[in-house]
Amino acid sequence: MVPLWILPLRLEQFWGIYMRPILMFTVAMFACAPVAHASPTFILTDVGGVGVGTPARAAFETAAAVWSSEFTNNVTIRLNVGLEKFGLGVLAATGSNGTEVSYGAVRTALGQGATSANDRSAYASLAPTLSFESNAIAGQAPTAAVHALENNPANGDTQLLWANTANAKALGLISSSDTSFDGSVIFNSSYHYTFDRSQGVAKRTYDFVGLAEHEIAHALGFVSGVDTEDAMISWGMPGLEAGSWGSVLDLFRYQNGQRDWTVGGNPCLSVDGGHTCGAHFATGQDNGDGAQASHWRPGSGLGIMNPSLATGVEPAISANDLQALDVIGWNLSPQASAANGHVQWATKTNSPTSGSWSQDKELVNVAEPGVAGLFALAVIPLARRRRSSRG
Ligand SMILES: [Zn+2]
Repeated sequence: MVPLWILPLRLEQFWGIYMRPILMFTVAMFACAPVAHASPTFILTDVGGVGVGTPARAAFETAAAVWSSEFTNNVTIRLNVGLEKFGLGVLAATGSNGTEVSYGAVRTALGQGATSANDRSAYASLAPTLSFESNAIAGQAPTAAVHALENNPANGDTQLLWANTANAKALGLISSSDTSFDGSVIFNSSYHYTFDRSQGVAKRTYDFVGLAEHEIAHALGFVSGVDTEDAMISWGMPGLEAGSWGSVLDLFRYQNGQRDWTVGGNPCLSVDGGHTCGAHFATGQDNGDGAQASHWRPGSGLGIMNPSLATGVEPAISANDLQALDVIGWNLSPQASAANGHVQWATKTNSPTSGSWSQDKELVNVAEPGVAGLFALAVIPLARRRRSSRG
């Protein structure tokens, strides 16, 4: 099946078709830092510039070990990693392999795997039938007037979600030892980085470890189908309806007390069915607030999944980040659970004097190409699939 997710299509097809076949470099395995509990194991494949022994490799392994220490899921995650020169404006990009999963299977897995209070609350918010508000009405641009509840089989609604394979492994929906890759993380060598931040992040450089943490989290499932909808609107093809474009994380994307996959607006993470709002999400790169919806709201400093990063800053994994990953199926380790309001590494040394990333003029988008041509790659297979499914 052709992956429909916008991030893999942007990156995987870009790399696979235009740059080089993946998996052409040596494969190397590394053991994560020893932890007392079961934990995810990351297997990295260098696709250029992140070979064993390089500073970039060491930094990426550090970031992977951090995520291993945060979770207890006994799964193996396979990532391609690279450091290559591409256009300015983007520090790194992550493409995730994905799979179509039924909402019912996801709901069951989340219920059976609930290990935290947030998990139990989140599961309780999931009705037997998936429904959500959306402005992705077939053939129409998003406006308030077409904002409507989507759970109508006559509109092609399928009760399907699109899950990153890493997320599906965490949920037990695919084998944890599946040998296909789960994602590709490519860093932009056009920028200067601090690879070892033990002495702080140097001025005018970006923290590579923090950046890697951010990109890995995308692969683990911190993604939103609203980005797909946003891209389709930009290409004059609005109207995704309720196929398999929503992510597992989107199950907890709410505004005005409703599950809501609208481009734009004021959505937040809610783990209690919209009664209370947690951290707010970004709302769309093209037709929303200017940041991809697979992030926290721009300029808000909500966690490692902020959409941008400034030089000289050591970003931190926050309680918001952990809550989001927790409720989509990642089980928090005792260390992570104990750290309510947990910050993996404090933001420190050489931070912008304003203390706000959004006010740093060197701020650069953390992830995902904003290159228009890449959007086209996302659109074409999706359109083909819709035709075939209706034909
Ligand atoms: Zn990102």
